[in-house]
Amino acid sequence: MIQPGSKSLRKIAVVGRGTAGSLAAASVSRLHPDGDHELHHIYDSRIPVVGVGEGSWPSLVQELRKLTDLPHETVQQRLKGTRKYGVAFEGWGRRNRDFTHYFTPQQVSYAYHLSADLMENLLRESTNAHRIDARVLDIERVEGGAEVTFEGLPPERYDLVFDARGFPRELDPGRHIEISFIPTDTAVIRRCPAIVDEEKEGPVRQHTYTRAVARPHGWVFVIPLTVHTSYGYIFNRGVSGLADVEADFDDFLEADGVSEFEQRAVIRFPNFVDRQIYDGAVARIGNAAAFMEPLEATAIVSAQLQIGMVLNMRLNRPAEHRERDAPVANRFLIDNMLRYGLFVGWHYSCGSVYDTEFWRYARDRAWPRFRAAADPGAVDCAALSKFDEMIELLNRPVIDKADWDRMCGVPLTSYAQMSQGLGV
Ligand SMILES: Cc1cc2nc3c(=O)[nH]c(=O)nc-3n(C[C@H](O)[C@H](O)[C@H](O)COP(=O)(O)OP(=O)(O)OC[C@H]3O[C@@H](n4cnc5c(N)ncnc54)[C@H](O)[C@@H]3O)c2cc1C
Repeated sequence: MIQPGSKSLRKIAVVGRGTAGSLAAASVSRLHPDGDHELHHIYDSRIPVVGVGEGSWPSLVQELRKLTDLPHETVQQRLKGTRKYGVAFEGWGRRNRDFTHYFTPQQVSYAYHLSADLMENLLRESTNAHRIDARVLDIERVEGGAEVTFEGLPPERYDLVFDARGFPRELDPGRHIEISFIPTDTAVIRRCPAIVDEEKEGPVRQHTYTRAVARPHGWVFVIPLTVHTSYGYIFNRGVSGLADVEADFDDFLEADGVSEFEQRAVIRFPNFVDRQIYDGAVARIGNAAAFMEPLEATAIVSAQLQIGMVLNMRLNRPAEHRERDAPVANRFLIDNMLRYGLFVGWHYSCGSVYDTEFWRYARDRAWPRFRAAADPGAVDCAALSKFDEMIELLNRPVIDKADWDRMCGVPLTSYAQMSQGLGV
């Protein structure tokens, strides 16, 4: 296939080697049709990656197969992974009933639970890049491209820069859309012994689920890998104190029969979407572009969308369309990130089995902000009306077959399962 944009995409930089940067660098190596392009993979080895992205969506299974050229079975084993068929919700909603949000088709489509570090290693093997270990001071648009300035090295000019430097230091209302209707902002991460055994030959075929367990101060995720099981307590530091959360985490693990754990990290996170994800020369990707708490594991799939959109557009469209294409791509990406945000925030709309300060805050104060936060006048995209359309569809006595494939970030089947489970 002729890719007219490839001639103006000779020199590319990816800044960051977390999940997002690693995916971008491997994607450039895989998708660029000309072997003589130049790819610089830049990172500061003194700045650690977040590295806790261990849940995914089914599109990652296909993507890793394509990027690595390895069979699915090998990829899964290299990731010390298990097959994730959905998310098992415990204690959520008003029905006092546990339920599962399956990927569709149910019991067929699966994603991975994966070790983020091992995925970075795997992707590095598929990346053909000049690696630069240096701190980036600035990435600035210049005529026809972008310039990267470094600490201790001369600046370099690129045709396209993927900025995967992770969370912004602080949110700026002029630059970021704050997803204020999501009620959580901090995670305590613990690592516990594996509950799924590695198979002697071949990958683990057993169906596994991410558990999302409602707790008095928020919720706990449980992600089973073959090397360890990851636990994370997600809460709001303005509502609950860390000591109370740790104590409830201890109770939860004890009730779960887990007698030993390694305390890994306490991570603060923002819930936001950058208003300028792609400007024609710089593409923010991963946690630099958008983030929302990990309830539906939307971060890796968001990075895939951002990278795929920008790279395919740049390769397949002639250079003269670039300035016109950029705002269209930017709006598309913001719209999709906000759709994920609305889907995730909606999970809190019916509370949980706990009538605690956190759950009252989540249901009665945070979630009701969604209309103001996603107002089209404030965010310049139609995510809110698309979300409303999904809810309206769910309320119809019969959903017409023509609507079965509708999506708003995620498929209608996901909305239907959550609506049933939560008791919306
Ligand atoms: C509690 C929690 C749970 C999560 N669970 C999931 C999940 O289940 N599924 C999922 O999809 N996602 C999950 N995520 C999201 C996960 O963080 C992301 O998928 C993933 O880590 C992407 O991060 P990143 O690559 O954008 O940034 P990071 O991992 O932060 O990497 C940033 C990179 O940029 C480099 N860097 C930074 N500044 C500079 C500089 N000035 N110069 C040079 N290099 C620099 C660093 O060295 C690093 O390599 C979770 C996040 C949190 C907080």
